Amino acid sequence: MFISIEADKCMGHGRCYAVAPDLLSDDDEGFVAERGRCWSIPDALIGQAEDAADACPEGAIAVLATATPTDA
Ligand code: SF4
Repeated sequence: MFISIEADKCMGHGRCYAVAPDLLSDDDEGFVAERGRCWSIPDALIGQAEDAADACPEGAIAVLATATPTDA
């Protein structure tokens, strides 16, 4: 599975990294530090990724079965 975070949609609410601390982190301004990226996540963190997607009020986070990673 992959997680994708749209940079333009992120408004820095901070809910995503609060519920997915093993997957996401915050930058100095309170935005999720990984915004604008898409990357493969291990099975053990899929739950946190789904929680982060559900928690984001801007719909910036997607959990996808297939994707092209930004750092591939
Ligand atoms: S919850 Fe959504 S809007 Fe808030 S920091 Fe995370 S990705 Fe950005």
